[in-house]
Amino acid sequence: MDRRYFIKNSTILSIGGLLIPSAILEACRKETLLEDINYDGKVLIIGAGAAGLYAAYLLKSKGIKFQLVEASANYGGRLGKLTGFANFPIDLGAQWLHGKNSILSDFITKSDTKISLDDSDLKYWFNNQLINKLPKKTNIFEGEDLPDISFEDYAIQKGFGNEYKYIIENIAGDQGADASQLSVYGNNKDEENWTSGDDDYKFQETYFDFIDKQIAAQVKDEILLNTIITKIDYSKSSIEITDSNNDLFLADKVIITVPIPILKSGDIQFIPDLPTEKTSAFSKIGMGAGMKVFLKFSNKFFDQNIIGGTICAAYADDSIGKVQDDNILLAFVMGEQAEYLSSLGSNAAITNALLQELDSMYNGQATASFIASHVQDWTTNPFVKGAYSYSTVGMGDARMIASASINKKLYFAGEAMNNNGHHQTVQGAVETGYREVMNLLKDLAK
Ligand SMILES: Cc1cc2nc3c(=O)[nH]c(=O)nc-3n(C[C@H](O)[C@H](O)[C@H](O)COP(=O)(O)OP(=O)(O)OC[C@H]3O[C@@H](n4cnc5c(N)ncnc54)[C@H](O)[C@@H]3O)c2cc1C
Repeated sequence: MDRRYFIKNSTILSIGGLLIPSAILEACRKETLLEDINYDGKVLIIGAGAAGLYAAYLLKSKGIKFQLVEASANYGGRLGKLTGFANFPIDLGAQWLHGKNSILSDFITKSDTKISLDDSDLKYWFNNQLINKLPKKTNIFEGEDLPDISFEDYAIQKGFGNEYKYIIENIAGDQGADASQLSVYGNNKDEENWTSGDDDYKFQETYFDFIDKQIAAQVKDEILLNTIITKIDYSKSSIEITDSNNDLFLADKVIITVPIPILKSGDIQFIPDLPTEKTSAFSKIGMGAGMKVFLKFSNKFFDQNIIGGTICAAYADDSIGKVQDDNILLAFVMGEQAEYLSSLGSNAAITNALLQELDSMYNGQATASFIASHVQDWTTNPFVKGAYSYSTVGMGDARMIASASINKKLYFAGEAMNNNGHHQTVQGAVETGYREVMNLLKDLAK
């Protein structure tokens, strides 16, 4: 996800950067609660991504007993780091810090974390040419009274022809969606709620390193890896949680932070069943396919950002913001384009499809200077199954319903459960970890 589209194309000035972030205000108000409550019960946190790690961090700071279980062999979830491929560390998942004003601000300012503004140039692949500026502005997706229809339908209504298809797909792809699925109304509301600021920053190390050092370091020794939760029985006073090896965990409260496709697909059985209203809310939250492919070349023939490809609508120079500058081009592939590349069945086929597209843009230079590729397909990760959540047509208040706690026992966190426009982001996930620990403590105080 890249917020720059909305800035570069916008005629409406965002007030986001001028507001004091709601999460910080909320933090100030509720910090006393965190100080005052002593709790002897045990909390189980499912999922060691940004949300789960932060929930564990807070519980630890309060001295509350917790267990953090993670299905995969690593913690971090949709944050990941690849070393050895380039002469700088590569972000396999989240990469950009979208705005400096958030629950993460203090962690950045109070540490020696090095970030730099990413204001790299955009080029468009349009009518088979690379151009600097599109003939028509595409800022139609922001403003008053927008309809709850898809980006694709709205663009057609507004007279954008087929030549704009992959430009529009890129705008939707930044939100992790296909243009045919993303709601103009819903996405615009999300943008209005955004309070983190509009600039994008890159970490000199990786986003994973930042969360690892600032948050995970406090709890990582206590994470139970390779533990796939399959059942949560909350019918009795003590909650029984079972993993795929039939090992049993007991807890008084459970914070569930798994990605929304895991909840939608029923990979975790709830006893009793979750209310229909809740499962129907899960189904309304969108999450499309997502893949990152890193292409290494012997020379830098490519532009900093290339928007509008038919195989991949967004390429970006991955060395921007890094100290070293190996020639790595990131193909940031979302939605149907990611599904198509996945369907090719092998990393070699995926790489070839991208090289062919780049060859057509840059007169065969891609194949001529290609060295190696690395494919990170988030959709085939069985514990993620996609990129990040987006607002679908007709979604209404599904996120509110989906994220409501149940019987003071089950608490729902994770980026898709963020109700203040910060879903899809690391700070959005962290905010929900915070919110649910606070909700849990508030329930104890009642
Ligand atoms: C390609 C890509 C690029 C992105 N770019 C950015 C970006 O630039 N900036 C940004 O802010 N955000 C970005 N994001 C989004 C960001 O990564 C997420 O919003 C955030 O990391 C989500 O954190 P989370 O804790 O909600 O979920 P996750 O990180 O997905 O963590 C959930 C954890 O639950 C585990 N789990 C799943 N099922 C089970 C189970 N049954 N039992 C136990 N554990 C289970 C998973 O393995 C996972 O570790 C990007 C995401 C992707 C995929």
